Amino acid sequence: MPIKNRLSEMQPEIAEWRRDFHMHPEILFETHRTSKVVADKLRDFGCDEVTEGIGRTGVVAVIRGKANGSGKVIGLRADMDALPIHEQTGLDYASKTDGAMHACGHDGHTAMLLGAAKYLAETRNFDGTVVVIFQPAEEGGGGGREMCEDGMMERWGIQEVYGMHNWPGVPTGQFAIRPGPFFAATDQFVIEIEGKGGHAAKPQETVDSTVVASHTVLALQTIVSRNSDPTKEAVVSVTSFETSSKAFNVIPQRVELKGTVRTLSADTRALVEERLPAIAEKCAEMFGAKAKVNYMRGYPVMVNSEEQTEFAAEVARSVSGDCADAPLVMGGEDFAFMLEERPGAYILVGNGDTAAVHHPEYNFNDEAIPAGCSWWAEIVEKRMPAA
Ligand SMILES: [Zn+2]
Ligand SMILES: [Zn+2]
Repeated sequence: MPIKNRLSEMQPEIAEWRRDFHMHPEILFETHRTSKVVADKLRDFGCDEVTEGIGRTGVVAVIRGKANGSGKVIGLRADMDALPIHEQTGLDYASKTDGAMHACGHDGHTAMLLGAAKYLAETRNFDGTVVVIFQPAEEGGGGGREMCEDGMMERWGIQEVYGMHNWPGVPTGQFAIRPGPFFAATDQFVIEIEGKGGHAAKPQETVDSTVVASHTVLALQTIVSRNSDPTKEAVVSVTSFETSSKAFNVIPQRVELKGTVRTLSADTRALVEERLPAIAEKCAEMFGAKAKVNYMRGYPVMVNSEEQTEFAAEVARSVSGDCADAPLVMGGEDFAFMLEERPGAYILVGNGDTAAVHHPEYNFNDEAIPAGCSWWAEIVEKRMPAA
C-alpha cells in the first residue's frame, strides 16, 4: 500500500491547516489558540472523545475502529509548539507574531496528525482504538512529561506510542529510523566559582576565580576523554564563561560557567552527573576557591523499542518504497518520556533540501504531507487490521 489516495486528495486542505498554524505560532505551554483549533477540528471529524487540558494545554482524542475485538490501543503523538525565533522566510503566510516562529515544523506535525485523524474517523477500517495526542512544550518545556504525569497512558489504556519528526536533508516524503537509543538525554549545568577578588597588580592577595574557572573548563574535558566508556557517546560543552568584572585591572570575585551535557545511555548520564560536580568542586578547592554546582536533568535518552521500530520501518517502506537508517541525534526529544512509559517508535520523515530546523528561514515542506499522513494511517490499519 503506497500513499493513500484519500490522503493525497486531502493534501491541499491539510496544507491549509498547516499554514494557518504557521501564521499563529505559540510557544511552550501557551498553545491556547492551536489547542482550541485542534480540539474543534477533532470534534468536527467525529472523534469519539476529545479531551482538552491534559499536560496543561495538550489535547487527546479517541477514535474507535469499526471493531474492537483486538482490545488494542495505539497512541499517535504530534507536537504543537513554536520557537522564540524571528521568522525570516518572507512567506505570505509567515508568522504574525513577532519573535515567535514555527521553525521546527511542529505546524506540519500537528496538521499531518489531524489529517490522519480525519481519515481514520471517516474510514474506521481497523480493529481496536486509536488515541491521538497533541502535546505542547516540546521545545524544552517537557509538555510530553506533563501529559504522562497527568496519567494519560493509564487513563486511555494506551499500549504503544508512535511519533514523527520532519527532517531537512532527507528526501521529501522518505523515512529514516533506528532502533534503540536515538535522541540524546539533554542536561544543563551551572558552576559558580567563588574566589577572592582584588587588584590585578596584586594577585598574591587574591584567589583568582578566572584562573580557577579556566582549569575547571579544561578538567571537565577529561569526563568524556578519560572517564566515559569510549564506545558510548557523550558531549560535555561549557557554553558560557562570565566573570563578575568587566575591568582591565580587577581580578573578579566570581565566575559563572554554564553548559550542556548530551548522553545516549542512562549509565553514561549518571557518570557525567557524578563526575562533573566532583571535578568542579575539587578543582576549586585545589586553588583555594569554592565551586557550587547545579546539575539539571532535562529530557532522558529517547529509546526506540526494537519490535515497534521494525514495524514502523516496514510501514515506511510500504508507503515510500524505502526506509533509511537514521543517524544518532545528540539533540533532545520530549517524546522520550512517552517512550519511557510505553513501547513504541519515533520516525523521521524527509523535509527535502530546506534550511535546518531552528533556522529563521526554515519552513515545513507541505509535499511531505501525503507520506506522513499515510504512515500514520498505515500504522493503525496494519497494527490493528480489521477482519
Ligand atoms: Zn525543535
Ligand atoms: Zn521539533
